[in-house]
Amino acid sequence: MELKLHDTQTREKRVFTPLDKTNVRMYVCGPTVYNPPHIGNARPVVIFDILFRLLRLLYGEEQVAYIRNITDIDDKIITAAKQQNITITQLARSVEKQFHTETEQLLCLPVTASPRATDHINEMQKLVQALLAKNIAYIAEKHVLFNVARQNDYGTLSKRQLSDMIAGARVEVAPYKQNPHDFVLWKPSAEDEPGWDSPWGRGRPGWHLECSAMSAKFLGTTFDIHGGGIDLLFPHHENERAQTCAASGEKIMANFWIHNGYVVRDNEKMSKSLGNVLLTSDLLEQFDGETVRLALLSGHYRQPLDITTQKLQETKTQLDRLYRVCKPDAEVRERAASAKPDAEFLNALLDDLNTPKAIARLHTLAAEIVSENDSEKRGAVNEAPGTEESPSAVSATDKKVALLAAANLVGLLSQNPDTRLGYIVQNDTDAARLLAEREDARRDNDFAKADEIRASLASLGYQIEDTPAGPRLRRLSEK
Ligand SMILES: [Zn+2]
Repeated sequence: MELKLHDTQTREKRVFTPLDKTNVRMYVCGPTVYNPPHIGNARPVVIFDILFRLLRLLYGEEQVAYIRNITDIDDKIITAAKQQNITITQLARSVEKQFHTETEQLLCLPVTASPRATDHINEMQKLVQALLAKNIAYIAEKHVLFNVARQNDYGTLSKRQLSDMIAGARVEVAPYKQNPHDFVLWKPSAEDEPGWDSPWGRGRPGWHLECSAMSAKFLGTTFDIHGGGIDLLFPHHENERAQTCAASGEKIMANFWIHNGYVVRDNEKMSKSLGNVLLTSDLLEQFDGETVRLALLSGHYRQPLDITTQKLQETKTQLDRLYRVCKPDAEVRERAASAKPDAEFLNALLDDLNTPKAIARLHTLAAEIVSENDSEKRGAVNEAPGTEESPSAVSATDKKVALLAAANLVGLLSQNPDTRLGYIVQNDTDAARLLAEREDARRDNDFAKADEIRASLASLGYQIEDTPAGPRLRRLSEK
């Protein structure tokens, strides 16, 4: 099995080979926790969860480390906390908590570690010292800056020429910068701003520095995969790479740089200024996490993805259908847990995480189960009682196992189908009692009473479905 991934550094799809297959290492930039997470934050969370699952399948669950940081010190956090009249810690912890809750609702596996920037100030200061000692950084007006001119391959990750960048620079450049693209490693904090003592005065780290320090601490200065949204490529990832490589003396920070595309709305980038930002919490109020997860996987990760209410509604219908068709019983679940994933499904994922193709395969498997079931029904009419199980029955179960194993691999169809589809009995004693009374009425041929009870159940929000295994209740007010 060969995993191919598109590497931004080389701009090509390459075969992924870990530096050490007993310790496969991935770092993904996590959120800056200053405002409620939006769907653009949720996309990399789900995409890199798929990659994490795939790496665990290929190299073993214990052999893969996935680090996703929390940026909890940043100018945006300071500004937002001031506006809300709370401390930055109060704001950062509350947004961080929300982010983790939503990540769970999106059915992502827990990451290996989720380090906070403020817990690693010491490591950041050491990195600044190393860069100063190498004369790659300089001090100016209480700032410590990275001198991009001293890093001769600066710009190679994002394919930008330093000379073009200087010519194109329109931003007002701070007078103490030697080069307009020199970036802050450490900056001074005003008295009312959070800060830490340092050899350069009380201050705080620059954003790029945080990720270099934390990735080095958890994964070393060279590791396998660095991921994040494409909006982070420049300047964030370029600067991370520059700092890490300058300090370590290595040419490579990450062997693969993987970037996911934007979430767009009506073909426009989501942005605060356009007022079209879609919060993850708003979506999770209208739709369950699994539906949102599947919708985020519906497009290829490198392409822009348009998320609309209509798309989410269609996704929910598709997902419910998969649950209805698969309806895994204990046997199917048990077999799926140890089954080899379907080859076509897996090959799609191994080919640069082609999730749309993989999902299409799930639907094909579902369609095959339906047709197997239909032919079983037809077969049953012609078969004499007592004949052995027909070969098609075996193959319908096999297909269910294949569908469930494939879906589970990407974190889908792992919920209780009865809960998912709104079938309940156990937690609503009134409804359960009414259903039993209706059964009694029907047994007594009191159909008027049975109809009355059906109406009462409907007013409680339940529909009765009569199945070969007996009547079942289904909640009408589905999410
Ligand atoms: Zn980062």
